[in-house]
This record gives sequence, C-alpha cells and structure tokens, in this order.
Amino acid sequence: MMIQELKELGILPTNLGSSTGQNWFATGEDITSNSPVDAQAIATVTCSSHDDYNQICAQAQQAYATWRLVPAPQRGEVIRLFGEKLRALKPALGKLVSYEMGKSLQEGMGEVQEMIDICDFAVGLSRQLYGSTIHSERPSHRMYDQYHPLGIVGIISAFNFPVAVWAWNTALALICGDVVIWKPSEKTPLCAIACQRILADVLKHKDLPEGISNLVIGDKVVGEWMVNDRHIPLISATGSTRMGKIVAQQVAGRLGKTILELGGNNAIIITPDADLNMTTIGAVFGAVGTAGQRCTSTRRLIIHEHVYEQVKASLVKAYAQLKIGDPLLPENHVGPLIDKMAVEHYLDALSEIEKQGGKLIVAGGVLTGKGFESGCYVKPAIAEVENHYEIVQKETFAPILYLIKYKGDVLDAIAIQNDVKQGLSSAIMTNNLREAELFLSAQGSDCGIANVNIGTSGAEIGGAFGGEKDTGGGRESGSDAWKAYMRRQTNTINYSTELPLAQGITFNL
Ligand code: NAD
Repeated sequence: MMIQELKELGILPTNLGSSTGQNWFATGEDITSNSPVDAQAIATVTCSSHDDYNQICAQAQQAYATWRLVPAPQRGEVIRLFGEKLRALKPALGKLVSYEMGKSLQEGMGEVQEMIDICDFAVGLSRQLYGSTIHSERPSHRMYDQYHPLGIVGIISAFNFPVAVWAWNTALALICGDVVIWKPSEKTPLCAIACQRILADVLKHKDLPEGISNLVIGDKVVGEWMVNDRHIPLISATGSTRMGKIVAQQVAGRLGKTILELGGNNAIIITPDADLNMTTIGAVFGAVGTAGQRCTSTRRLIIHEHVYEQVKASLVKAYAQLKIGDPLLPENHVGPLIDKMAVEHYLDALSEIEKQGGKLIVAGGVLTGKGFESGCYVKPAIAEVENHYEIVQKETFAPILYLIKYKGDVLDAIAIQNDVKQGLSSAIMTNNLREAELFLSAQGSDCGIANVNIGTSGAEIGGAFGGEKDTGGGRESGSDAWKAYMRRQTNTINYSTELPLAQGITFNL
C-alpha cells in the first residue's frame, strides 16, 4: 500500500526490479528489502555490477567538469529547491524510512527534517565558503587562501540513518562543487532510491547533468570498488569501527582522504547535583530510541552512589511503561531491530553480561505472537555492570543500558566515561557549574560531542558531528565541516616590478 503511494508520488520507480536511468544503473544481482516491522518483502532491487559502477563513475567525472564551474550560490539554489521538495515529501519519505528501517514514524520524520535542515544550512553556506587574506612579508604582494572542490565524494552509509547521513554529506559536497556517488546500506536500498530520485528530479528541472548525484546499490564489495578507486579523492564512510578500520587503511594506501563516522559507546554521567526528572527522560530516550540503534544511543549511565538507587528505581519504573510494537503506530515507543542477525547479537550480549558478572535488573527477551511476526522486536534491558567488562567495552547495537556506580568526585566519573575505545557522544547531568565546566574542559570528556543537561543522542545539524578514537575522527554537518569537502589553495600575487624572495633571500644573476 505504502509502496504504491510512493510510486504514485514518483519517489519510487514503477518497476523497481529492473530500473535504469536517474543515475542508478543496475544490471547486477537482485536483493530483497525486507521490512523488520512486519517481515514483508517490500521490493526486489537490482544491484550495480562492476560495469555499471565504471559507467557511473565516468558520468560523475563528466558532471564534475560542469558542476565545479557553476557559481557556489547557484549550487546553493539547487540545494534550496531540493530542500523544498523534501518539505513537500516529508510525510511519505518519513513513512518509508520508518517502514524499511524500523524506527518510529516520528523519528523517520525527524530524519527527513534533518535533511531539510542541512539543506537550509548549506544554502546559506553557499555564500560563505570563506578563505582568509594574509599579510605578505614582501612589499606589493597579496596573499590569500581559497577553497576549491575536490571532485567525486564517495558516500558509504549505514542502515540506521538511511537518508539523513547521505543528505548531510550531499548537501555540503554539492554546494562545495563536488559530485557524489552514494553506496547506501544494502539493508535500506529503497530509502536510497527514493532520495536519489527526489534529487535527480531537481537536477533535471534545472537542466543539470544527472551525474552530479549518483547511486550504486550493493553490499561491501561495491563499497570496496569505491574505496580503492583513485577517481574518488574523499570517502565519507559511516558504519561500524570494524568497517572503518578497513576503509581507513585502504584509502590511506592511495593517499586519499576520509571522513569516518563510526561506532560509539556513549555515557551520561549523573552527579548528586543532577535534576533527576530530566535525567530519566534523557536516559530512557537515549537508550531505547531507534531501539538502541543510533550511533549516539546511550549505552552507559555512570551514576554517583548517593543517587544510584533513586535513579535505578525511576528507570525500572519508566521501562515498565514502554510500549513495544509497530513503529508506524504513534503509541509505541520502541520498534524492531533491523534484522534477525541484530537480534542474535542482542541475545549474545545479554548472556555475556551475566557470564561476565553483570546483573540484569530489567530482563530482555524476544517478543513473539501477534504483531511480532518479524522476530525482530526485543525488550529493552537494563544491567548493573562494571565498566571494564569486555561486553561493556563493546558497542552492542541494541537497547541494552548499563548502570555503573561511581564514588568520589566528577573526575572519577569522567575517568570511567573516557575509559572505552570509542569517543562519539557524552553527557553530564548536573546543576553544579564546576562539575559541568570540568566535564567540558581539557581534562573532561574525550568525545567529539559533550553535552550538559541533555542526553547523548539527537544532535543538531548546526554543530560539527563526529567523534574521536575508534569513532574515526571525521566531522560532518555544521560548523566548518564543509572544509573537508574542499581543497585549500594558498595564493600569492606580486603586483610590484621587483621579484623579492621570501625569507629575505637574495638571488642575483
Ligand atoms: P556496517 O559497518 O556493517 O556497514 C556500513 C556500510 O559500510 C554499509 O553500507 C556496508 O555495506 C559498508 N561496508 C561494510 N564493509 C565495507 C568495506 N570493507 N568496504 C567498504 N564498505 C563496507 O554498519 P551498519 O551495521 O550498517 O551500521 C551500524 C554501525 O554504524 C554502528 O557501529 C553505528 O555506531 C555506526 N554509525 C555511526 C554513525 C556516526 O555518525 N558515527 C552514524 C550511524 C551509524
């Protein structure tokens, strides 16, 4: 039903199985997109073959030759139109995100809103790609630096944000004068086809080459073609740390650039000065939102011993009220995990917690029966653990929340919070100014994102997004993240009749 609606809106092609055109050449193998919501096979999608990939890459190169010459504010106008189209299609696209990925309808809509927000941001930015002017040490010389586009940006994305991550990258890359080739997660190909068609329509309307935005569908093999392709100077890859380590090495091997947005192990520190009502809401949404499948999901709560029992009791009470079920229904808080493999990982983690000495205070389990036929619905769980347990050190992409007790002062809590390999998002709940400032200082959180009195998940597009350590180290989205999509050039102009050398060197012939 929903797919028919999307076809009628032109977001999905009428014949998904053998689609060509709109820069999605697909003559390879077929894959089926199954919804975790109701186990339905939504559609069969054809993947790109290696020949398709080569053809797309050639077309992207050709489009780049044109696109880089379009003035940046005019490139911004294309993104403005894209944002307008997304506004009109938000309900339909949000529904598709929810159905194919399994996140709540509100979160699906929220993802599309992020796409709209980054378009707005990029439109403004298209008139602000500023370089610096520099005073020369030589008389009658002028120096400045300026930013030029890089070429083709390769985007590899994960299943959990099937549309927003592409938009974050694409909106910036395009206003910077780059063109993009996108390989979405093989678990959410329909979301990708829909996005590609929406942007392709705008490009067509503006009489621009389709090859400015390109889509290749397939599994990691297709990703590897991109990673090893010298025609792609920048690879922006979002996914697991395991994937990021492979991609980083391969791209570095050809001296390419990367933006890596990898796994997190995010914690909220709860001090004796925390507002505990706010804390409960922030922690529960952070832990169970998107069924714990956000890179910024709250995995650990580091709670001071004086408030530990109180926080624990209010969490147990809140978890008892959670409604699990069809994410398209507004009354449900928690939808399914992406697939049965994710359910296996969740169950393995639960048994590891107990093996390693942890105690489950809110038990997990897989839901069965009417409405849960997909086998992907699980109960959010809470466990009391110690930070050093191997299982706690890992990112389990599921709704499992760890409670860790700390004694002493906020520096003790910060030491625990930083004592994991990942470094994406972090938060402190406190009304104590000294604790908050320490947390944000150089001896505080070592993460790319550090929040006070909000949770770990749900970043705004205005800030640079990304993390440190095993999270990869790149930045996307707001602030000056755009600079990663451009190459910097330093220019020196001599308008004198002399040729003075730098550093006062004389050279006479
Ligand atoms: P994944 O690593 O399995 O796959 C991500 C993408 O990489 C997919 O498109 C996949 O096909 C591709 N891929 C896998 N191996 C590859 C290889 N060797 N070469 C090229 N491409 C390859 O991740 P997933 O299960 O889809 O997503 C979950 C993970 O993503 C979690 O770890 C989560 O924290 C992370 N994530 C991070 C961010 C962030 O911004 N830091 C955002 C979303 C998700």
